Amino acid sequence: MRKKRLYKKKPDDTERKEERKRQKRQTAYGGEIMKKWEANIRKVVPYVPGEQPKAENIIKLNTNENPYPPAPGVQKLAAQMDTDRMRLYPDPTNGALVDVLAQTYGLPSDQVFVGVGSDDVLAMCFLTFFNSEKPILFPDITYSFYDVWADLYRIPYRCQPLDENLCIRREDYYQENGGIIFPNPNAPTGIYEPLEMIEDVLQHNPDVIVIIDEAYIDFADGPSARSLLEKYENLLVVQTFSKSRSMAGMRIGYAMGSRELIRALNDVKYSFNSYTMNQAALELGTEAVRDQAYFEACVEKIKATREWSKTELKKLGFSFPDSQSNFIFATHDRADARVIFQALKERGIFVRYFSKPRVDAYLRITIGTDEQMVKLMEALKEILSHECKNAVK
Ligand code: PMP
Repeated sequence: MRKKRLYKKKPDDTERKEERKRQKRQTAYGGEIMKKWEANIRKVVPYVPGEQPKAENIIKLNTNENPYPPAPGVQKLAAQMDTDRMRLYPDPTNGALVDVLAQTYGLPSDQVFVGVGSDDVLAMCFLTFFNSEKPILFPDITYSFYDVWADLYRIPYRCQPLDENLCIRREDYYQENGGIIFPNPNAPTGIYEPLEMIEDVLQHNPDVIVIIDEAYIDFADGPSARSLLEKYENLLVVQTFSKSRSMAGMRIGYAMGSRELIRALNDVKYSFNSYTMNQAALELGTEAVRDQAYFEACVEKIKATREWSKTELKKLGFSFPDSQSNFIFATHDRADARVIFQALKERGIFVRYFSKPRVDAYLRITIGTDEQMVKLMEALKEILSHECKNAVK
């Protein structure tokens, strides 16, 4: 029987070499050499989403969610969901949801693409369509995810300043570029551009892909750019279930475009993750689209509350571009937007404030229920007469 060694064995040559290698590796992670692998890390300044406060009994008007529940059929289906189905992968083609959207909008199914919220669809679009050396163009005041995706995918871009009324200047999009994207209605201004303007931009840009982000289109009085798809193969229209269909938490977005564009998007999707959509989102999303009457009633209610809110905000001394979305981008000429934002928050009312040049005098207020908006107006009245005394004439 071998005797058990009671003292530490003297290292032999091989062990010494191993130890040296280990120490070298350690220096590599802790010391100077670290910079080498650090250089391989993709550095991005991420998008900051609006706050999702945990507290109960708050009035949440900060992320443009819908204050009404999803369609009754969606609620019923969610309650009866068959959990055994979770063992299986979802349909990678998202077939049922794609088909119901295609039917609703009078398009063939191969002209519709579905993703995990329009953020996922838009990110995929940046990767798929913006591969030119020339800069892509978008407004300076717009959805603040665009420059993040451009940086993430190393796409050159140029921001085109909105005019003094916060409108997009169409001539800014007549120059050479690697692609164009803007929301219609724009965010956070809420301004809707007529179809004629979109068509004009398309006519000046036959050689690049033009993406219209229609996250808020259902709240606009004018039509979607969808009707231009027949005429322009380089147009892509992106929409979402997060606002008008009350399903931000389910994460469903979609794109409509020519067969070529949708095929290219699918090729990129299948090169990235075959199962972007989960089973529950696919089933519940399909059910939501089937209830057109509920959807229209909800949108009409929000539009009516928006118009009432405009009148009330004006009475309080706010001004704003004429919103065609489910939010109002309001400024007060005598009261500091940041002070109002904080004072509202202290009262449990959350709106959105962007501390960025050109927009830091504004609050973006999502349209809630009538009751919520009444409470907001009461709080604003109080804040303007107490915290912002100079604001009252
Ligand atoms: N586009 C615009 C203009 C938006 O404001 C938003 C909401 N943050 C989105 C796209 C993304 O919405 P979602 O991913 O929820 O569909």
